[in-house]
Amino acid sequence: AAIISIRDLKKSYDNGFEALKGVSLDIEKGEIIALLGPNGAGKTTLIGAVCGLVTISSGQALVGGFDVAKEPRRARRLIGLVPQELALDLFETVWNSVRFTRGLFGLPRDDAHIENVLKSLSLWDKKDNQCKELSGGMKRRVMIAKALSHNPEVLFLDEPTAGVDVNLRRDMWKVVGDLRNTGVTVILTTHYIEEAEEMADRVAVINKGSILLVEDKTQLMQSF
Ligand code: ADP
Ligand code: ADP
Repeated sequence: AAIISIRDLKKSYDNGFEALKGVSLDIEKGEIIALLGPNGAGKTTLIGAVCGLVTISSGQALVGGFDVAKEPRRARRLIGLVPQELALDLFETVWNSVRFTRGLFGLPRDDAHIENVLKSLSLWDKKDNQCKELSGGMKRRVMIAKALSHNPEVLFLDEPTAGVDVNLRRDMWKVVGDLRNTGVTVILTTHYIEEAEEMADRVAVINKGSILLVEDKTQLMQSF
């Protein structure tokens, strides 16, 4: 069964703007899917709706079988979210930052899990550094580590390479590639087709609030 199931999802913002016009999509456990589309397409709105940050106007989103509108806390427990903006306590250490986020979910301390997460993101030797001491790429990795702190089933990465240079972009591609081995389902957004192809197994092309097509990446280029 799908880990995420989105059915005829619509979102109109308070000013009446229809940002999602009936989106349906099933996402399988363990896959990496890219939402590809230009600025303003509705990618962030879609992520927000599934994560419970944006109220859904009509339709439904299920995460691990939980309806995000009806059981938001249960759904959220399964979700890790890395927003576009870096949001770190710069004076805090890497270790404490990640442990604190886990604590927000009311979960017991699990130092072994945090160690694994930090090692998998090549942050282990930075665990005692304050976030302010890290490079931009490392700060982004800490954001991902925080989002993985509570063992989520699905990880949302909103524009993981927005505003970063070429080297950092490749670094992020590798980070996402490494997530493939962890079994976590990854949903990322991008407006670069080559990036969608590089990172994802499947690509959903979204524009003006609608999904135009969903293709395995091997098929994607032939569709254009
Ligand atoms: P993307 O992530 O693909 O760039 P967004 O989901 O951020 O797109 O935005 C989709 C559309 O919804 C845009 O036209 C944006 O201006 C509009 N929008 C986003 N947030 C709001 C809001 N709070 N109120 C009104 N319109 C919004
Ligand atoms: P609330 O008390 O309203 O549930 P929380 O403090 O649990 O608020 O979280 C605030 C918002 O930020 C929620 O929408 C939550 O889903 C989101 N959030 C914060 N950190 C994470 C994270 N690491 N992964 C997923 N969602 C997160």
